[in-house]
Amino acid sequence: MLRALGYNDLTRFHMNEGHAALLALQLLGEEAQKAGRSSIRGEDIEKVRSKCVFTTHTPVPAGHDRFPMEYLTRVFPEQLNFFDLSDASAADLVRRILQSDRNISGLQEAARQGAAVNMTQLALSLSTYVNGVAKQHGETSRQMFPEVPIEAITNGVHAGTWTCPAFQQLFDRYIPSWREDNFSLRSALGLPAEDLWAALLIAKHELLELVRTKTGLHLDSEIFTIGFARRATGYKRADLILSDLDRLRQIAKDAGHFQIIFAGKAHPNDAGGKDIIRRIYKAKKALRKNVPVVFLDDYNLELGGKMTSGVDLWLNTPQFPLEASGTSGMKAALNGVPSLSILDGWWVEGHIEGVTGWSIGDTRRGSGNAAATDNQTEADSLYSKLESVILPLYYGERHKCLEVMQHTIAINGSFFNTQRMLQQYITDAYLR
Ligand SMILES: *Cc1c(COP(=O)(O)O)cnc(C)c1O
Repeated sequence: MLRALGYNDLTRFHMNEGHAALLALQLLGEEAQKAGRSSIRGEDIEKVRSKCVFTTHTPVPAGHDRFPMEYLTRVFPEQLNFFDLSDASAADLVRRILQSDRNISGLQEAARQGAAVNMTQLALSLSTYVNGVAKQHGETSRQMFPEVPIEAITNGVHAGTWTCPAFQQLFDRYIPSWREDNFSLRSALGLPAEDLWAALLIAKHELLELVRTKTGLHLDSEIFTIGFARRATGYKRADLILSDLDRLRQIAKDAGHFQIIFAGKAHPNDAGGKDIIRRIYKAKKALRKNVPVVFLDDYNLELGGKMTSGVDLWLNTPQFPLEASGTSGMKAALNGVPSLSILDGWWVEGHIEGVTGWSIGDTRRGSGNAAATDNQTEADSLYSKLESVILPLYYGERHKCLEVMQHTIAINGSFFNTQRMLQQYITDAYLR
């Protein structure tokens, strides 16, 4: 497509996720052709590698596509047949993308044996710079793919898009350069408390109004509101906060009332994701008299924007280390909404306890072991933070709550945005 559009002298190609990896095969074919050869050799591989950058996005196995070799020989009959397997680096590349230790004498033979092409390995093998999307994810990816160096560039969200209208107005008034220069959000530390509170109330009313039109439920804007909106899939554990309903009732009684707004959508083939939504509905019924719970369907960008700006706390309970980055907490931070989250993905970098939000459980950097996750222990940690730290702060120390909001914008909104992210891609990856 790039060639058809007339881009003939590009010096860098960025493959964002393994889906884009066929690009590298096409470039290999072009290099061989330029050299007047009909087979791909080591020097073509070196040339292509020097032009390509690859970003891997998830530790979840389903996110790393493998396709039968036979699909590829159909799409790319030329390139694949013309790897020169007598050339050591060409043969090595083929073994890596087929993840095969067998001595492959020919690709047609590999196809007949039912070999599968690993798209992530293809992109990894043909890139000069590879990165994960948060520092922790870089570490996890290095354990998954020890054969290549992997760096990290932490994701960011587009500040102009994910700051809600009430906060846009607030920033326009006090930090007029914030749109061109997201770093200037650091001066949010000086935002007047009463204006900050007023903006939060406007955003909260908008969300509660949306809840009313979508569900008919009237939620009280004076009540502490927890938000959770994600694709409903197993490792995100939307229902972790619902694991002990008696405990939730007790906390509401002793520490202060709260309500929970969920939004989500399950992939049609994800039975586990659908089960989570069923459990939320069940808990909603059971908690009705004590803790209002709302589930909003049709989770999309617009609803995502309303959710991440209209609540008092953003909850995130992924199973470590499967949340590569997570971005909804960054959207919340731009709107002064602190996170209560497992220390995974971006939160390992964005979390300062009691300053930008709160952690669930302890830091596990370096342990890299999903099996170490214990739902019970993490639910306990979530409950005790809510009960003894967060609700008392909201109902008893409003000025400290406002300080947390300021820090959230100044420390995290100013940093976890696309301006900073793109600058890092340019200096670390593209101009390398
Ligand atoms: C931000 C957003 C996401 C991604 O959020 P995560 O925290 O990375 O899971 C997914 N869907 C919608 C609609 C969003 O707005």
